[in-house]
Amino acid sequence: MQDETTLNVKKQQETASGMSLYFRLLGYVKPSIVYFLLSVFGYILYSSMQPALAALLKYIVDVVSNGTVVEGRMLIPMAILGVFLVRGVGTFLGSYCMAKVANNVVFDLRTSMFNKMVTLPSSYFNNMPSGRLLAKLTYDTERVIDSVTQAIQVILREGLTVIGLLGYMLFINWRLSLLFLFVIPIIGLVVRYASKRFRKLSLKIQNAMGGVTDVASEAIKGHEVIKIFGGNEYETRRFYKAVQENRRSQLKMELTKALNVPIIQFIVAISLSLLIWMALDPAISSSMSAGDFVAFIGAAGMLSKPMRQLTSVNSILQKGIAAAQSIFAFLDLDSEKDTGSKTADRLKGDISWKGLTFSYPGMDKNALSDVTLSLPAGKKLALVGRSGSGKSTLANLIPRFYDVNDGCLFIDDENINDYLLDDLRKNIALVNQQVVLFNGTIQENIAYGGLKDASEEEVIEAAKAANAWGFIQELELGLQTLVGENGVLLSGGQRQRLAIARAILKNAPILILDEATSALDTESERAIQQALDKLMENRTTIAIAHRLSTIENSDIIAVVDHGQIVEMGSHSELLAKNGAYAQLHNQQFSDIAE
Ligand code: ADP
Ligand code: MG
Repeated sequence: MQDETTLNVKKQQETASGMSLYFRLLGYVKPSIVYFLLSVFGYILYSSMQPALAALLKYIVDVVSNGTVVEGRMLIPMAILGVFLVRGVGTFLGSYCMAKVANNVVFDLRTSMFNKMVTLPSSYFNNMPSGRLLAKLTYDTERVIDSVTQAIQVILREGLTVIGLLGYMLFINWRLSLLFLFVIPIIGLVVRYASKRFRKLSLKIQNAMGGVTDVASEAIKGHEVIKIFGGNEYETRRFYKAVQENRRSQLKMELTKALNVPIIQFIVAISLSLLIWMALDPAISSSMSAGDFVAFIGAAGMLSKPMRQLTSVNSILQKGIAAAQSIFAFLDLDSEKDTGSKTADRLKGDISWKGLTFSYPGMDKNALSDVTLSLPAGKKLALVGRSGSGKSTLANLIPRFYDVNDGCLFIDDENINDYLLDDLRKNIALVNQQVVLFNGTIQENIAYGGLKDASEEEVIEAAKAANAWGFIQELELGLQTLVGENGVLLSGGQRQRLAIARAILKNAPILILDEATSALDTESERAIQQALDKLMENRTTIAIAHRLSTIENSDIIAVVDHGQIVEMGSHSELLAKNGAYAQLHNQQFSDIAE
């Protein structure tokens, strides 16, 4: 299953061509086009100052060699200041405006990803580790933008610099420049080959450097096992080997790094010498002044850095493309299906299951098979059975967290797929074991989402009904106490009571309680049970409980086993039957007696 999805993702990534990716990314740049153009303008300013520097060099040399220093005394320093001023303004405009564009794009990418995320079907969240999802939202978006802006910067700034410098060289001596242009690609290739080899080498070494942390973290996590089974010596030896390997690799890496720079610089020096050798050819040099000569060589020297950066653009872009692919694949995921069109302001709450079969996406085994059951409006259904038998699954299909594979589920004689998803869910309140409290006050957590307009009186009323008002009052800030991520710590039972208050406030015709009181002690459970009983009065309720005593007075009790309903009836009927329910009942009874 895992392999299959990764394979699919790979295939998807290959088919999405680089070009269409660029255009899609470019679409995000469009709204910030003004800043983009300003940034381009900044880089033009910056790059035009490189040849200006070379020209200044020529002027200085000519002035000195002609002995006309007096005129240049003021002019040259002023010109230098001017050149650097313009260059500075260019750098500022270029990088700041590009950062502005980049941050706008990150903003748009993140918001559209989050908007997508809240519409994804539940099955997606089950299969995706939350850490990886968060990484997509934070790390991947930043990586895309980093690499794309870096690439654009290099292409614009260095590309324009190269054009400017070459133009200036052509202007000084076109014949020499043409010769130089002929040599450039050859040098470029050599440099590129060399740096590629170095990169490959260092990558290989880097990969060999894991090990140390692996061994160490295993030893830390398994310290008890190591002690009991006398693994000290074995682990020590293993760690010694890993560290030794690491030292070797590290030194190899430093060696290649230390060789890399001088070798590449030497190749550049070879090319410059070649150029000077050509320039010193009498036929060529005779037509040049000393200033021309110096400026020409200077410009050629200035070319080497931008040229080198231009050759690395591709590898920078590749990194961004990989991240962009992951982001766009996420944005292209299918949202939850919402094909129904029936509105439902307030349903009555007649629920019936007809031959319903369901298996979780990617699973072979059926979690539910052929469930047929009908629950009239206002009645109470209890689902009992061993853990893993399919009770929660049965309940979760009502709000369409998953789509039914086979058979149907009707509410008020309409297939639930025909309702608008929002309208369907508006009619259902759900409390389950995993209480989720959001970062906010208690009041915000009870009056959450669609309930946010509830008045304080209503919230208090709900809290009282859920037997939560007592502990809320004892908190210093009462309803305004912060809970959730970084609020006060509430006990499992207190959290559950807040969740029940939330459900009570929702006042929906259909109520699902999936082990809603499992975290409570018997006493508070009993207190809440009264509240819940009142709440259930004229609503359709599906209650899943592990303590059978809480569901004895349900209208229908269904025993679920291996995804099937094996027994159904009222408490007394089922006891009389002396079957699966009676067995469960007796078990709990004897547990309590013990
Ligand atoms: P119960 O609520 O009765 O304890 P569940 O309805 O949670 O049982 O689970 C029924 C079966 O479905 C179990 O075999 C469980 O392993 C499987 N199951 C539950 N949730 C998922 C899921 N998200 N993905 C795949 N299988 C699941
Ligand atoms: Mg369950």
